Amino acid sequence: MGPVDTRVKVRVAAKVNLYLRLATRGDDGYHELSTVFHAVSLFDEVVAERRADDVIDVHTHGGQSDRVRDDATNLAVRAAVLLRAEHGQADQGVHLDITKTIPVAGGMAGGSADAAAALLACSVLGDLDTTPDDLHDLAAKIGSDVPFALLGGTAIGHGRGEQLVPVLTRGSYQWVLALAPRGLSTPQVFRQFDEQIARGEVEPMPQSGTEPPRELLNALAGGDAEGVAEHMHNDLQEAACQICPELRKTLEVGKRAGALVGIISGSGPTCAFLCASQTDARNVEAVLKILPQVHEVRRASGPVPGAQLVS
Ligand code: ATP
Repeated sequence: MGPVDTRVKVRVAAKVNLYLRLATRGDDGYHELSTVFHAVSLFDEVVAERRADDVIDVHTHGGQSDRVRDDATNLAVRAAVLLRAEHGQADQGVHLDITKTIPVAGGMAGGSADAAAALLACSVLGDLDTTPDDLHDLAAKIGSDVPFALLGGTAIGHGRGEQLVPVLTRGSYQWVLALAPRGLSTPQVFRQFDEQIARGEVEPMPQSGTEPPRELLNALAGGDAEGVAEHMHNDLQEAACQICPELRKTLEVGKRAGALVGIISGSGPTCAFLCASQTDARNVEAVLKILPQVHEVRRASGPVPGAQLVS
């Protein structure tokens, strides 16, 4: 790779949260969190191509791309604009072409993934002098999940999710992902969570922060899928299920079909099922596929790397 590249392709993975605890909303409007991110093999691809003018634009296709706007609000465009402002030259235009597989507004950080991929792709395309720390800082400015999309693997997240510490894992975990026909608005799920706290229905994480359970980290280090399943947790699960009650049914059915555990991914509505084997995963997939409230079922494995240069 060098300054002559005119086209750069980056592949980037979706995430599930194996663990997610949230404090009450802070004065800045954000919830401090403690999470374990886990990158799974559902990938978007972002191609960055030089333009002769200074325009930064985007075309998104594939998957649920009809729900994504191809304008300045697209997170990949925001990433390219921010990178250029801080490290590039004002006349460097770029065309971004996004092939989506990650569900949109599915709680799998698809938009954040595209932003991370755009940061890497544009940085390589422009032959910019950016360090991994520079990219991490830019990523955190775009959104809380963007730094993890750069990093990938499995990692503890603190703060808003941007303070990352990689987690040691062994082996590969088998996942079945049940995609819903419509997305869920992340702010709406957070508002629901706030209301649950106000009603005393849930206990928020203490402001001082909580570490993910030692048992979960030990199970990950030992490649113990059952142990991982036993200690997975998502504070937003109940909020997402209150907004979309049919998610409870999906979780129940997947569990009965043989998954070790079913959990809402992030703010939902994607349901993520951890399975003990590929055979179990195929069985769970077959059963979930026929549910009317499930739009699409995907099998995936994790952990996988973060944003990676393909060509
Ligand atoms: P998170 O788990 O980070 O809360 P999510 O997976 O629930 O996110 P996204 O797919 O990231 O949701 O989309 C959230 C919103 O961001 C949607 O309203 C979507 O239109 C918008 N968005 C902007 N750019 C993109 C993009 N490149 N891909 C997907 N969504 C995007």
